[in-house]
Parts: sequence; structure tokens; C-alpha cells
Amino acid sequence: MLEQNEFTKLSKMNFDVSEEQALVLDQVDRVCKEFRPIEDKFYLDHKVNDQVKQSFGKAHLLGLPISRKYGDGQGADMMTYALAIERIGREGTGPRTFFSVHMALGEMTVQHWGDEEQKRRILTPATRGDTILAFGLTEPNAGSDPTALTTYFEEKEGMFLVTGQKMWISLGSTAKYIITFAYPKGKREGMCAFLVDTESPGFKAELIQHKLGLPTADTSTLYMEKVEVPKEDMLGPRGKGMSVALSGLMNGRLSVAAGCVGVMRDCLDEAVRYAGVRFQHGKLIGKHQLVQRHIGLISTNLEAARLLLLNAAFIKQKYEENPKNNELREAADLAITKAKYFAANASFDAANRAVQVFGANGYSFENRPARHLVDTRVTMIYEGANEIMEQKIALGSLGKGFEAYS
Ligand SMILES: Cc1cc2nc3c(=O)[nH]c(=O)nc-3n(C[C@H](O)[C@H](O)[C@H](O)COP(=O)(O)OP(=O)(O)OC[C@H]3O[C@@H](n4cnc5c(N)ncnc54)[C@H](O)[C@@H]3O)c2cc1C
Repeated sequence: MLEQNEFTKLSKMNFDVSEEQALVLDQVDRVCKEFRPIEDKFYLDHKVNDQVKQSFGKAHLLGLPISRKYGDGQGADMMTYALAIERIGREGTGPRTFFSVHMALGEMTVQHWGDEEQKRRILTPATRGDTILAFGLTEPNAGSDPTALTTYFEEKEGMFLVTGQKMWISLGSTAKYIITFAYPKGKREGMCAFLVDTESPGFKAELIQHKLGLPTADTSTLYMEKVEVPKEDMLGPRGKGMSVALSGLMNGRLSVAAGCVGVMRDCLDEAVRYAGVRFQHGKLIGKHQLVQRHIGLISTNLEAARLLLLNAAFIKQKYEENPKNNELREAADLAITKAKYFAANASFDAANRAVQVFGANGYSFENRPARHLVDTRVTMIYEGANEIMEQKIALGSLGKGFEAYS
């Protein structure tokens, strides 16, 4: 835990955006503005938006936190990355989920754990959007407890054969490679991670229908029957699958936190805009104090969520620069968990308040608050449900020995 000199270290946080960071963020902002009408149409048609990779790929934004050595990698620091995802989050949790999965759970996990050959082969096209990545951990009976997964692998003639079912997998029907977690056949330990090629025989993906929200995001069930994975496509050391999964989730949670801050910002903008044009009782509703209360609360929570996000990104950057420092890894993990937990709840509250400010018009998917309300709800569930986040955060104060489960 980062207690000693904590204040001195954090006091070095710098909120100034450098010229280089500003250039990236301007570019993201420009693409987001072009992208909005595209997402609007897919949302109202209730269809998976398959244009995200084209829109952001042509602007070279699909490899932001990836080393410049690979394809369109931009080598962005964690602060730039978080602010970019925040901006994308304003466009909706659907498109932002694309980035959290392809970039954070996918590319960043390959960058951290892959060998040089895997990085060249997978990251180069991934950063250009030519290869999409996904992350397959959850199963019908393994959610918050991933150790309960039953997907397994056998070894045959220089190949791994992967068999099992994964559920609720974002980009599962879109991805070329899915980072898939499995145990050796007949064992409950020694979990491994594999880069499963979705074009291999024995692999099938099915879109999940009738979701509460995220109509524009691909969420799928995966079926694998002895899917062949070449020896060189194990990701990370044999038996270290859980460490691979947890490091991916740390990156994913940072991006969820950032996306939620973006949602809050959009809810604030929308509530302010509407309160400035809608008249009731002879005045603009923005002049009614109870409407002002909604706006004040969204605004305050937005600032708190953003500060937690920046703090988390700052510590995560320190860890990126010192990847062997376990103290920094734990500090980053805790700060990211707090940021994700707070932002998830605050974004749902912000969307709820924005809907309220809009009145009946807030109840229509024609308006953005309704979409945010149903879409951001998932952030209290995925990449670590609220209850799991609460336990992780409490453990940060209670210390080791107070684990609720192992
Ligand atoms: C739209 C969407 C996209 C997703 N994308 C992906 C993806 O790309 N890849 C992937 O692998 N997964 C993905 N998921 C799955 C997601 O990560 C899981 O839903 C999440 O981990 C929770 O698991 P669960 O749904 O099985 O809930 P469960 O684990 O069954 O939990 C049910 C309830 O019990 C609570 N609970 C469980 N254990 C405890 C405990 N020990 N103490 C207190 N409370 C507990 C939970 O907090 C929750 O409230 C996605 C889910 C959704 C909805």
C-alpha cells in the first residue's frame, strides 16, 4: 500500500495538459463529433454499431496506449488515455465499451504479457483496427468468481484444444482473437490464457438479444468445441492465467471509470441545455431551485469522479514505468477500483437526474439521458460488480487477512 510519502507523491500530480496531449485529445474530440450521428442512427435502429473501428481507426486512435513500435500505436501515457476514453464515454457506453475491450482488456493485455512475436503479429493489425480483440473470462457459472470456470484445454500434436462456453463477452461476434481463460482438462488449478482465433473450426459466437441497454454493443455467447490453438498462442506463462486476467481487468476498470466520467459530463451538458430552453410555471426550469439541485449534484459528483480518475491514472502511470514494483501495482489497483466504483454509481445517478430534468422527454431514447440511464447501468456489474469492488476497497484499509474469499 502506498502510505509512506503518499501526500508528497500525489502532490506532484499535474493537471496541465501538455501540447502533445492536447493534440491527441483534440483529435479524439473531432472524431467523436463526426461519430455522434452514426451512433445515433444505430441506437435508434437498435443495431450493433460496426462503424466504431472505421471511425476511430482512420484517425489512428485504436492503439493509443500501445507502443509506437507496433502499427498505429501512439505510446500515450495513462492520463492521456484516461482523458481520451472520458471523451469517448460522452458518446455513450456502447462505443466506449468497444475501447475498454479492444484496447484495455485486449491490446494492453497482449502488450503486457505477450512475447515479441505475439506483439508484432497481434498488436500491429489491432492498433489499425484490422484485427479486433476480446476477453473471454465469464461463463454461465463463473462470474464474480472466475476460479469457477469450466472451460478446459487438452494438448495434442503440438496444439492446445480448447473446449467450453463463455457468456456475456463483449465483441465476441466481432473479434478475430479472444483472450480465453481455461484450466488444464480435469484440473481446477493452473489456469492459462490463450489467444483463440475465432475463425478456427469448432468456434461459434451468438449475439445476446434482449439486453437492458447497450443495443449498439456486441455482447455474445461463445461456444468452443476442441478449438485448435497453436502452441505459440498461449498468452503469458503457463499457469499464470489468473494474473493475466487480473492485469487486464485493472486496465479495463480504469477505462470504465473514464467512460463513466464522460457519461456524467454528457448528462450535465444535456441537463444544462434543456434547463435553459424549457419553460414551466412562467420561467425556465433552470430557474427552479429543485432543478438546480439536480444540476448541482451531477456537477459535484462529476468533479469528484474525475479527480479519482486522474489520481488512478497518475498512479497507474507510475506502475507502467515500474512494472516490477508490486507496491505500485497494488496502489494502482486500489485507486482504479475506487475510481471505477464511484464513477459507475455516480454516472447512473447523473443519468437518472438528467432524465428527471427532461421530464417525459427524458423517457425517450430520442434523447441522450434515457440512453445513458440504461447503458451506464452495466458499469455497476461488469469488470467487477459493485459488491466485489466494495470488498476490494475495504481490504485496502483492513489489510491482508480480511479477505472475504480466496
Ligand atoms: C454487457 C456486458 C458485457 C460484458 N462483457 C464481458 C467481457 O467482455 N468479458 C467477460 O469476461 N465478461 C464480460 N461481462 C461479464 C461481467 O464481467 C460479469 O457479469 C461480472 O463479472 C459479474 O458476474 P455475474 O454476472 O456472473 O454475477 P454473479 O457473480 O453471479 O453475481 C451476482 C450478484 O452476487 C454478488 N456477489 C457475487 N459474489 C459475491 C461475494 N463474494 N460477496 C458479495 N456479493 C457477491 C454480485 O456482486 C452480484 O450482485 C459482461 C457483462 C455484461 C452485462
